[in-house]
Amino acid sequence: MEAKRRSMRCPVCRSRRVLELAKGSATGSPSHECRACGHRWSMMLLIDGPLAFLTPWMPREQIAEDLREAAELLADTTRVLEPFYRRSLRRHVTEARHILAGTWEAYARRRIRVRAGRARPRRCPACGSRAVLRIQYGYPAPGMLEAEKAGKLVLGGCVVEDGQPRHACGDCRHEW
Ligand SMILES: [Zn+2]
Ligand SMILES: [Zn+2]
Repeated sequence: MEAKRRSMRCPVCRSRRVLELAKGSATGSPSHECRACGHRWSMMLLIDGPLAFLTPWMPREQIAEDLREAAELLADTTRVLEPFYRRSLRRHVTEARHILAGTWEAYARRRIRVRAGRARPRRCPACGSRAVLRIQYGYPAPGMLEAEKAGKLVLGGCVVEDGQPRHACGDCRHEW
């Protein structure tokens, strides 16, 4: 399968005139350059930042430190985050803020309700088939290409935007 590449935008001026710099450069050196404003950045693919999970019983200083680190990383335009990583960092920041504000429990309950509301529909609205698949967006994680081949999910490409279909029918290919 040909990887569906998202067209990258400059994190500073949002121009799409982005040049990919030659590979083989030292780690940490810029990998992309904006031809409109000259800004350079490196694409971050690895999770090597703040903690993966936050719990309300962690020491407050640790949560505050974590929040600071995550917020800094999100604001840093010289390191552009892979979309999945960016999303999890944003969630991390939200969770940390709720824990520190004492509203974490209400937030967690609301999240569970929202998730339940998003449960997978049982039937395709077009043909009534029960072969409903989830469309997975973002850069495919290890094993996801195989899962798609096995008909367990559908890869929707790396561009993540509002209003994209969440489900696909395994029989008639209808998406909604
Ligand atoms: Zn730019
Ligand atoms: Zn269908």
